[in-house]
Amino acid sequence: MSVTTVGAERTIKTGLLRGIAGRCPNCGRGKLFAGYLKVAKTCSHCGHATGEYRADDGPAYFTILLIGHLVIAPLLAFQFILTWSAEMILATTLPTLAILTLMLLRVAKGGVVGVLWATRANATQ
Ligand SMILES: [Zn+2]
Repeated sequence: MSVTTVGAERTIKTGLLRGIAGRCPNCGRGKLFAGYLKVAKTCSHCGHATGEYRADDGPAYFTILLIGHLVIAPLLAFQFILTWSAEMILATTLPTLAILTLMLLRVAKGGVVGVLWATRANATQ
């Protein structure tokens, strides 16, 4: 059973911003995550059942989409891509891409859970 804040307006913007910040989309105060990517079963502040929202592959999809368009494609504009050896390019770009991807994945998961909250797309309804 989920606890909903009385009178709270469920907008996609609210859910998205609270989720991206790693906060409970229902109250904006409790922590959304109980681990790196594990969503807490309930909010520690308002008791909302945040664990009911199943993001599935959505966060990975959005992470790939954003990293591909905002990082990989612009890399092709730099001259070092054409002049450095493949080993040098991989040694410098792969760790950076891995860190960026892991950082963005958590943010994307929070955003997806926030949108699921706004659209009432939890598993029990
Ligand atoms: Zn909450």
